Amino acid sequence: MKNLNRKKSNGLPIYFGEFRDKALEKEFYNAEIKKNINYVKFILLLVGIAYFLFIIPDYFLITDVNAFMAILFNRSVILGLLVILYFKVKRSSEYFSLIYWFTAYEIIISLSFISIANHYTAPDFLIQAFGVMLIILVIFLINNRWRYSIFAALFVSIGYFVFAAFCFTDVPFSQFSAAIVHILIVIVLSSISSYSINYYKRIQYLNTIELLNRAENDSLTGIYNKAKFNKEYARLADSAQQKNADLSVVMFDIDNFKGINDQYGHLVGDAVLIALADIVRKNLQQSDIFARWGGEEFVLIFPNMHLQQAIEITERLRKYIADHIFEKIGQVTCSFGVAVFEKDEDLNKVLQRADERLYLAKNAGKNKVM
Ligand code: GH3
Ligand code: MG
Ligand code: MG
Repeated sequence: MKNLNRKKSNGLPIYFGEFRDKALEKEFYNAEIKKNINYVKFILLLVGIAYFLFIIPDYFLITDVNAFMAILFNRSVILGLLVILYFKVKRSSEYFSLIYWFTAYEIIISLSFISIANHYTAPDFLIQAFGVMLIILVIFLINNRWRYSIFAALFVSIGYFVFAAFCFTDVPFSQFSAAIVHILIVIVLSSISSYSINYYKRIQYLNTIELLNRAENDSLTGIYNKAKFNKEYARLADSAQQKNADLSVVMFDIDNFKGINDQYGHLVGDAVLIALADIVRKNLQQSDIFARWGGEEFVLIFPNMHLQQAIEITERLRKYIADHIFEKIGQVTCSFGVAVFEKDEDLNKVLQRADERLYLAKNAGKNKVM
């Protein structure tokens, strides 16, 4: 129910590659990583191993033993760090802070890359520029904030060109400028493609939330509908059965609602349903289930609650409703039937019992808990 009031208002909900709503963005990012967790872990390990394996060409190219050892150390550290990150991702349950880790790693790997180039006796400007392009592609492969990916891509490119300008001798101007232009184009194209992926994933996420809301919530009152109730009821009954715990069910129905409709019209009747749902919802615990059964009938599930306790709480709800002054019409009352789930019992039997008691309450003069 928590997403219910999330409207697509204030223009575009997505700005600069992410949701304007920070909480929604976090929720989306968490869901996204959770869905892709195996892929993310695989990429991390793959990058670590590939980066390390470049030690093979290094071995044939580098004659100086000290330089080779320094590069070996450098590549091993990155591999080690990526393995650590792999396990961190594996153990995390909250993923949003990973954007900082990913960005930091991208910066560290960029620095390591430049530092390795610095150890080569005769580094080839263009070969290293290909390396920069590879790093940029990996950066855009990792789920990060769009702006952080661009920052990291610019960081490695600018870092490399500044380093090359100072440390490489004899790079022809045509090569240098061509490398800059090509890498710039790679960054721009990767950013555009990453932006559109980010955009459409978020639009799809909003649509999924909306579909889920429509499938599970009653459109008038916003509380759960019957289908969602049945799902939750089966789940809670199953858990109560396994844990040998109590589970209480309450059915209630507005008294003389037809009269309200007849006297004040259906719109006022609808307003009563909405206000009533609000009153009940405000007086429930997080774990309680509250649904519209249909028409002006509602149903509640109290997990871990035995009959006596459920009756007390229902009695309190009854009083809250009866004491409330509804707009235009004043007092509205409800009648309640309470039943408790017995071990191995058919779920419908419990509902039936609650329903029978609800009718007993009606027959006993309404505004009562049975
Ligand atoms: P009782 O005290 O015995 O429950 O009497 P009642 O008049 O409440 O019971 P009854 O079941 O005869 O009437 C229920 C009425 O609820 C009939 C129907 O028009 C109205 N109703 C059902 N759904 C809605 C709705 O979504 N909006 C409005 N305004 N009325 C609804
Ligand atoms: Mg009624
Ligand atoms: Mg009714």
